[in-house]
Amino acid sequence: MTFTYLNLSYFLVGAVCGVILSFAAKPKSKSAKKSHDDFLKYIQSINYIIDNETDRAIDELTNLVKLNPELIEIYLAIGNLFRIRGELNRALIVHKSLLAKPHIDRKLKREIILAIGIDYDKAGFHQKAADNFKQLVQMDRSDKDAASFLKEAYEKNHEWTKALDVLKNFDLKRKNEESHILVAIGKERRSNGDNQSAKSFFKKAIKTDSDCFEAYYELARSEYEEGNKENAFNIIKKAVEKNHRFVSVVSDLIVEMLEGNYLEFYKSMLSKFPKSPELLFDFLYHLSKNDQLVLAENIIKSADFSGEGEKLLLEYWRCRLDMEKNLIGSKAIRQFLDKVNEKPKFRCEYCGFVQKEIFWKCPQCRKWDTSEVIFG
Ligand SMILES: [Zn+2]
Repeated sequence: MTFTYLNLSYFLVGAVCGVILSFAAKPKSKSAKKSHDDFLKYIQSINYIIDNETDRAIDELTNLVKLNPELIEIYLAIGNLFRIRGELNRALIVHKSLLAKPHIDRKLKREIILAIGIDYDKAGFHQKAADNFKQLVQMDRSDKDAASFLKEAYEKNHEWTKALDVLKNFDLKRKNEESHILVAIGKERRSNGDNQSAKSFFKKAIKTDSDCFEAYYELARSEYEEGNKENAFNIIKKAVEKNHRFVSVVSDLIVEMLEGNYLEFYKSMLSKFPKSPELLFDFLYHLSKNDQLVLAENIIKSADFSGEGEKLLLEYWRCRLDMEKNLIGSKAIRQFLDKVNEKPKFRCEYCGFVQKEIFWKCPQCRKWDTSEVIFG
């Protein structure tokens, strides 16, 4: 299991409720009246947390801690609530103060250091975050969640080699991530002018994960920049054969490489993947750009898709074809055409984030390889 900040938040709310309830269940030496009052406060705090009233929950919990200073878990939870509210400085103050307390057991110490690391990470201090997560994996090498946080902090800091070491040394078994990190190292080498070294990293990435589209793309770019056009085209063709859904990402480069003679490429790909909306729509896009849409008249007429976005885009291309043949041209049709995107967008399968450009790692949920192609 990998942690995200979202499920960490749910975990946190659950943890706070658990701590409070377990505390409420403990027998108290004080008067029954005080126990009753405390219990009402616990219930009120839980209600505030459930209602997402973070401010009032923090006030209520702070009062409880004043009355019961031995409850370090509640301090920890208060710091986490500050972080959820975006008050990272206050979260850090609360969390760091906890480490000064004596006799903290190992499990609790882990929770505190993890919280400090996450606070720093959220505040954009990825190096300091990494220092804390590193401390955790040094305490327990089997702590896979801490290792994941450490890798993530290194990635955010663009310390790719260190991120790669974490993947390998902590046996996280994520070949696709390893491959993308190798690509990132290669891109760094290329931007420093070392294309040979860059290419060796791209090749290593393909060897690590033969489905890594990004690795093929970057290797082809390097080959193309060196003037090895045929080599570059063959690499990209292989990438499209492996994953035709992403053809739009590389098709401008393909059209450029083939100097406009791209018809054969699309015909060959469409014969291999005749039901691919990605290939068909990308083909139509390039034909249209070159005023050759009529060449695809039969394909457009016989195409049939079940998805709503695909149906809409197919209708778009049918209208465009009719316009090209001077069959239609009403204002309503033009308004319809203006609303439809010819190019696909990319949506994260995990969190729903959408953007026009492909992403190999979702900028929102930070998961790798969750891009799906959407139309409309
Ligand atoms: Zn996402």
